[in-house]
Amino acid sequence: YYNNDTLIYLDGKFVKAHTASTDLYSQTLHYGYGVFEGIRAYATNNGTHVFKSKTHYERLKKSAELINIPFPFQVEELMQATETLLEKNNLSDAYIRPLVFCDPNMSLAKPNKVSIMICAWEWAAYLGNKQLRVMISSICRPHPRSVKIEAKACGHYINSILATNEAKDQGYDEALLLDSDGFVAEGPGANLFFEKDGMLFTPQLGNILPGITRATIFELARKLGIQVKEGLFTPNDLLAADSAFYCGTAAEVIGIKAINQDTFPLAWPNSLGKKLQDAYAQVVRKTKQTASTVSL
Ligand code: PMP
Repeated sequence: YYNNDTLIYLDGKFVKAHTASTDLYSQTLHYGYGVFEGIRAYATNNGTHVFKSKTHYERLKKSAELINIPFPFQVEELMQATETLLEKNNLSDAYIRPLVFCDPNMSLAKPNKVSIMICAWEWAAYLGNKQLRVMISSICRPHPRSVKIEAKACGHYINSILATNEAKDQGYDEALLLDSDGFVAEGPGANLFFEKDGMLFTPQLGNILPGITRATIFELARKLGIQVKEGLFTPNDLLAADSAFYCGTAAEVIGIKAINQDTFPLAWPNSLGKKLQDAYAQVVRKTKQTASTVSL
C-alpha cells in the first residue's frame, strides 16, 4: 500500500505514510467507532478523474452524522485534498481511502475531536475479473435496529470479514449475506443485481449499504433502456435468475457464475450485467467534461 516516499493526507497536511502515527487509545481502534469511504480515480484523456468524488465525501459526512461522530471538514476541501494527494503520489488509476477516526477516549460517549486521513494506492479490481463462485453465508447482515446500516462505519466490517472468511474457507470466491429476515441483502463489500427474463432486480434499501455504484447502475440501466426493480427477494428468487453480478467501487462490475452449487444459465457475454460492465468501464474513464454532461 505504501513505500518510504508515499504521502498521506492527515488533518490538513501531507505527511509520509511510514512516519504518520496515531494514538493507541483511539476510540476507533478499540470499538470500531469510525467511518470511511472507498473511492476510485481513473486515468482519462483529460487527466485523472476521481469518480463521483463529491458523492463519496457527502456519504462520508452522512455516515459520521448517522453515528454521532463530529465532521468538522468541508466536502470541497476533502475533494481538493484528494486531487492533490494523487498528484503528489503520481497516481492516476487509484483507490482512495478516507478514514475519520476518533481521538483517545476509552468511554462509549461521543468523541469531542476527530481526525481525518486519506491515503491512496493502485489497486486492481477487488474481486478480480473472473466470474465469481458465491456462497450464501451463514452470517446475516446486522439488523437495521442494531446498527445504522446506511453508515459506512468501521465496526460494521467485522460482519463482512466473517462472511468473507467463511466463504473463502469453504473454497468459494465470495459470500452473499442475507438480511435478518432471510431475504437476499448484499455481498461483504458490494451490492447485488440479478437478471430474470430481460429485467434487472436488486434488493431494496433498508438492510444494505446504499452503494454509489448501485446508483450508477440505475442511471446506466435507464440510459440503456433496461428496467430495474427493487424489492425483497428470497434466495430462491435469486437461484431462479438467468444471471447475476456484484457492483461496488472497489469491485466495479463483476459477474457471478454460481451461487452455492447452482450455476446461472445465461452466459456472461449475453447478460445485461456484461452490458452494464462495459458501460460502467466507459463512464468512469470518460473525460471530466463528458462525464459531467451525462451527470455521472
Ligand atoms: N455494500 C457494502 C457492504 C460495501 O462495503 C460496499 C463498498 N463500499 C458496497 C455495498 C458498494 O458500495 P459503493 O458502490 O458505494 O462502493
